[in-house]
Amino acid sequence: MGAVNLLEFDLDGLAAYCDGLGEKRFRAQQLFRWLHQRGEADFSRMSDLARSLRDKLAGVAVVQAPALISEQASADGTIKWLFDVGQGNAVETVFIPEVDRGTLCVSSQAGCAVGCRFCATGHQGFSRNLRTAEIVGQLWFAERRLREKLQLPEGERAVSNVVMMGMGEPLQNYAALVPALRVMLDDHAYGLSRRRVTVSTSGVVPMIDRLRDDCPVALAVSLHAPNDALRSELVPLNRKYPLAELLQACTRYLDAAPRDFITLEYCMLHEVNDTPELARQLVRLVHGLEGDAPALRCKLNLIPFNPFPESGLVRSTPQRVAAFAELLREAGVVTTVRKTRGDDIAAACGQLAGEVQDRTQVHQRMRRVPVRIHAAASGGGVA
Ligand code: SAH
Ligand code: SF4
Repeated sequence: MGAVNLLEFDLDGLAAYCDGLGEKRFRAQQLFRWLHQRGEADFSRMSDLARSLRDKLAGVAVVQAPALISEQASADGTIKWLFDVGQGNAVETVFIPEVDRGTLCVSSQAGCAVGCRFCATGHQGFSRNLRTAEIVGQLWFAERRLREKLQLPEGERAVSNVVMMGMGEPLQNYAALVPALRVMLDDHAYGLSRRRVTVSTSGVVPMIDRLRDDCPVALAVSLHAPNDALRSELVPLNRKYPLAELLQACTRYLDAAPRDFITLEYCMLHEVNDTPELARQLVRLVHGLEGDAPALRCKLNLIPFNPFPESGLVRSTPQRVAAFAELLREAGVVTTVRKTRGDDIAAACGQLAGEVQDRTQVHQRMRRVPVRIHAAASGGGVA
């Protein structure tokens, strides 16, 4: 049997694993802190762990993030990592620094089965679910790498927020997602608050209900259209879980967290979903005046479409985005327009396609350029 990757476990999982090795729970806690607070992968350096445990672990366990293929830094400080997850599959992770926070955009699947019209990952199709260790491994790796790159003092974190907005539909990989979220939230690991971890979903209704019960982090719902006809064209999953059902699930989600709101994401597609009439329909929808959908405590986040060649779609002009936003705001809907980041390295929303398809290609690339770091313009990097 191969070695066990300890990034696979939340604290309860690690405690159960340690129990199997004849170790007490507090040992698991110590080990968990070494892994996630200190980012240590070498058991021999975990100085306050009993030597007997260190020796035991060295024989049976490893601490391993997915293999890095490349690192690219954008002129605006955004960093994109491409990881090899085997059999020709690659996933991407993006770090977005801002003045008051550092957001890590994490992938949950290689490819995606939902197949949204405007999404590069969706066009690529579904390859496989990531394991918990591969989801957690993206954060584990990013923290270590950023700490070194930014020369952060001991104990300071680079990542303050995690958004599950990379490749894949997180709620279609639920079993691996929940332990990963627990690691992010655990005070013995990354200690992120519930509101600083966001799961973004295209609307897998039954799993929204389960997430509310299991791990109610912040929820973003990718809406993109205010009526079923248009939404079913853009997000095929809408045929299974239409808008009224989706918004009812969102309301149930908020019942568990009375002070929260749902972020509704809306990708702005020129002359497809950006007309004044659709803005007015969207207002009626979130106010509970359209069909069977309930009123929703929400914020609208308009995302200018990031084009890619096969989509055949066009980004709304800034004027149309502004007019759309204005109509929403006038009607009392809190609305923001997302700044596009990392455009020059194709790290923006929906541009993550895991460029590598062919296993031989991955290996050739890795042999030639183990870590490719190129700033897209002078001054690239996050310093
Ligand atoms: N599968 C999940 C999370 C990953 S996609 C979801 O769909 O919510 C993260 C966000 O990027 C979603 O809101 C998605 O709609 C948006 N997105 C996808 N492709 C895009 C594109 N080409 N331009 C702008 N936003 C896009
Ligand atoms: Fe999948 Fe989200 Fe892309 Fe739709 S937008 S195809 S759900 S990753």
